[in-house]
Amino acid sequence: MPTFDYAPAPESRSVVTIANSYGLFINGEFNDGHGTPFDTINPATEEVLAQVSEASTADVDRAVKAARTAYETVWSRLSGADRGKYLFRIARLLQERAREFAVLETLDNGKPIKESRDVDLPLAAAHFFYHAGWADKLEYAGLGPAPRPVGVVGQIIPWNFPMLMLAWKVAPALACGNTVVLKPAETTPLTALLFAEICQQADLPPGVVNIVTGAGATGQAIVEHPDVDKIAFTGSTEVGKLIARTIAGTRKRATLELGGKAANIVFDDAAMDQAVEGIVRGIFFNQGHVCCAGSRLLVQESVHDDLVHRLQRRLATIRVGDPMDKNTDLGAINSATQLARVTDMVAVGEAEGAHRWSPVCELPSRGFWFAPTIFTGVSQAHRVAQEEIFGPVLSIITFRTPAEAVAKANNTPYGLSAGIWTEKGSKILWMADQLRAGVVWANTFNQFDPTSPFGGFKESGYGREGGRHGLEGYVTTGGAR
Ligand code: NAP
Ligand code: MG
Repeated sequence: MPTFDYAPAPESRSVVTIANSYGLFINGEFNDGHGTPFDTINPATEEVLAQVSEASTADVDRAVKAARTAYETVWSRLSGADRGKYLFRIARLLQERAREFAVLETLDNGKPIKESRDVDLPLAAAHFFYHAGWADKLEYAGLGPAPRPVGVVGQIIPWNFPMLMLAWKVAPALACGNTVVLKPAETTPLTALLFAEICQQADLPPGVVNIVTGAGATGQAIVEHPDVDKIAFTGSTEVGKLIARTIAGTRKRATLELGGKAANIVFDDAAMDQAVEGIVRGIFFNQGHVCCAGSRLLVQESVHDDLVHRLQRRLATIRVGDPMDKNTDLGAINSATQLARVTDMVAVGEAEGAHRWSPVCELPSRGFWFAPTIFTGVSQAHRVAQEEIFGPVLSIITFRTPAEAVAKANNTPYGLSAGIWTEKGSKILWMADQLRAGVVWANTFNQFDPTSPFGGFKESGYGREGGRHGLEGYVTTGGAR
């Protein structure tokens, strides 16, 4: 099959000014943290981009105090319509500065510019627009009479969609009248810090949004702080369980968005070329660093060989490399640690007897890279069929009947998402009814929209983000507080 050579089409990084060092954003101002500053790097080149402050427990306390004061004196007293104006302003500023944010996201995270430009940033702005619309209509959201804010919310987010996860967290919290202390991930703090500038530009009252950078210890300080009313966390199931244990017995509420091991299920009557595109989108989007990635391909036995052949042909055309190049499909793995995790899991798959295949592709010599990889001959008991790899690695399993597909799809501790590929609507509805997953996509995969609730069953967490359901986690109804 002919493949095409593309001339380089690099996005310019001159649209972004990166400072040498960054402070914490507390009470509307940047000031230094009292922990040990750390570097954030570009995972595609290993270049140090900036030095970032580490928030100590005392810094987290300052941030929570600022959030509490802003909550009591300003934000919870504003009308919904006035809160909505701020959110609309933030949304418009994000759109105006979208290119700057997209370039910064790609530099700090390693994801392809075409994804940060076309997915992360438009969706982040859309979340602010959507929630701006709810701010003055909360009484009509069906959440109960006279919904009130929860208070000060601690928000902890991962590195895979730094700006988008920030938007998922901050927009609904603010729309409902809460104030926030947010911690971005250690490896991807820069867009959150640029967002702090947006808060200043939007004249958001000081203390409504506070951004504290740091690693796990900073997150833990937020979780343990006695004056935080709710924790909203996205990350690994392991840390999610730790948070649930820490807050057990306290008045703190939590929503947890955790890991996944989604089944992408292809029946013999599916439109095969479309399914191949959906499989690629399902597992190679964002280097597979996606909690709802379609990391288990369940394919009906009669079409297995044909589908694997088509998939291999398609994978040979995937362009891996410079994330700043507009033609790049697969960018850098986010960190050396994550690359080691993916590499280890792939070695486990081979040792367990699954058959590993990757297209011929040249990987850059610096930075963290992993070729698109598929495993065939995977059995249900293999670790590559059970555990989240969080990288560009697909495990392929076969089934014969719809009932067997359901049993295999549900045979996981997770339950975040699933995909179904068939031309029969009745089969889609029957399957969707049986699958224990928060989101089920039919003849598509990895589609996101602020109006649509997202969240998990089982060890994928609890609570929903987005849509009317997502508001529930940020309000309280009935009874005086
Ligand atoms: P992680 O280690 O759980 O980290 C998530 C966030 O928690 C980071 O900001 C992290 O800080 C912080 N953290 C680490 N230890 C903590 C502690 N003891 N207390 C409080 N906070 C702590 O997860 P990750 O490996 O970065 O992210 C990948 C995981 O996130 C995957 O399992 C994926 O499935 C999941 N994820 C889920 C969703 C969803 O919506 N369900 C979305 C995206 C990702 P540092 O980064 O500084 O360590
Ligand atoms: Mg980085």
